[in-house]
Amino acid sequence: MSTSTRPGQSSPLYYQRFPRWRDVSPSQWNDWQWQARNTITTLDDLDGVVHLSGEEKKALLPTVSKYHIALPPYYASLIDGEDRDDPIRRQAIPLPEESFFHGHEMDDPLAEDEASPVPGLTHRYPDRVLLVTTSYCSMYCRHCTRKRIWKQGEAPASRESIERMVDYVGRHEGIRDALVSGGDPLTLPLDRLEFILSRLRAIRHLEIIRIGSRLPVVMPMRITDELVRMLDKYGPVWLNTQFNHPREVTPQAAAAVDRFLRAGIPVNNQTVLLKGINEQPATMIALNQALLRAKIRPYYLFQCDLVVGAEHFRTSIESGLAIMEGLRGHTSGLAIPSYVIDLPGGGGKVPISPNYIVGRSEGGLILRNYEGRTFTYPDPPAAADQAAREPAEFVSSPA
Ligand SMILES: *Cc1c(COP(=O)(O)O)cnc(C)c1O
Ligand code: SF4
Repeated sequence: MSTSTRPGQSSPLYYQRFPRWRDVSPSQWNDWQWQARNTITTLDDLDGVVHLSGEEKKALLPTVSKYHIALPPYYASLIDGEDRDDPIRRQAIPLPEESFFHGHEMDDPLAEDEASPVPGLTHRYPDRVLLVTTSYCSMYCRHCTRKRIWKQGEAPASRESIERMVDYVGRHEGIRDALVSGGDPLTLPLDRLEFILSRLRAIRHLEIIRIGSRLPVVMPMRITDELVRMLDKYGPVWLNTQFNHPREVTPQAAAAVDRFLRAGIPVNNQTVLLKGINEQPATMIALNQALLRAKIRPYYLFQCDLVVGAEHFRTSIESGLAIMEGLRGHTSGLAIPSYVIDLPGGGGKVPISPNYIVGRSEGGLILRNYEGRTFTYPDPPAAADQAAREPAEFVSSPA
C-alpha cells in the first residue's frame, strides 16, 4: 500500500503532485497559519516547485537581495513547474530583468509620497484617501507598484502612525471613502486590523471603508468566518482584490470570495495588465468570465505602472485597447472592467477606451459596433427647428 494514500481518499489532492507536500493533510494545508509558516522565501526553497539551475539562482541573487520573494505553498502549488513562462510563476518568481534599469522607471511612479499630508496616507482625490497600513504581503508580486515600501522590511504601521492617519481623516469632513491598503492589510494581526477599522468607523463623515488585499488569490484559507465577521462589524466594507490570470480563480479562491459575500462584503477585482501573463485578449476574456462565475465584479484593468524593476511587464496601450475591443459586445457587459492608466507623476487614474465614434454625417453621429458595422445615430432636433414645427397631431390628421 502506498504511503500517500489515505483511507477514503481515492485520488490525490491537487497539491500532492508535489513530492514535498505529498504528506501534508488537508487540515494542515487549509490552515492559513500552516501556509504562513511554510511560505517559501528563498531561491533554494523553490526546489521541487520550479527548476532553477545553480547558474540561474546565481543570476537572480542581486535581484532577490534587493526585492524579497514569498510564495505560500498554496500559491506555489498553482505553478506548472514544467512551463518556464507559467503565468503564476511569472508573478511570484523574479526574472533577471527585474534588476534592469532603463532610465525612466521610478521608485514612486504615482508620486504617492508627494500627495501625502501624513506618512502612509495619500490624499489625491477630493473625497477619498489611501492608507498604507503594513509593508507585509503573503506573496510579493514582481510587478508591485509599491516596491519602494519593501525596503522598510516586513512590518505593520505603528499604532502612532495609524493614529496620525486616522486623525487626518477625522479632521477632513470631505473624506467619505478610505482605502485600507499596504502591503496587504489582511495579513495584519486581527487586533491591529480591528483597531484601524474601529477607529475609522468612529468618524461620522466617513461612509465606506475599502480593503485592498490579494489574500483571496494567494492564500484564500486566510479568509476565515472569524475574519469576515470582524470586518462586517465595521461595514459598509468593500473588498478589492487582484486576480490577474484565470488559473488563479480556483475553487479555493471562489470559496474565500463566497465567505466575503455571505458576510455582506462586495468583492471587486483590479487586474494589472502584464506582458507574458494576461496580455492576450482570450486570456482576459477567460479571466473576467471566471471572475463572474465566482461572483466577483471586474472593476479596473490597470496599465502597468513605470515602477523600477517591472519594465519587462509593461505592455503597449494598444494591447490594452485590443483587450477592451475583445470584451465589449463579445461577452457580458458585467465582465468588462474600466481600463485605466494611473498617470506617472501623480495625475491620477485616467480611463482609456476604444473609440466607437467613427465620424459625423449631415444629421447625426456615425458609430461602429463591436462587429465593425457602422450605424448613424440621428441628432435630436435643434431647439429653433423644434419651435417651427406644427404639433404632431396636425401633421398626422388633416382637417
Ligand atoms: C486608486 C486610488 C484611489 C481610489 O480610486 P477609485 O477610482 O475611487 O477606485 C484613491 N486614492 C489613491 C491615491 C488611489 O491611487
Ligand atoms: S499584494 Fe499588492 S502590495 Fe503586495 S506585493 Fe502584490 S501588488 Fe504589491
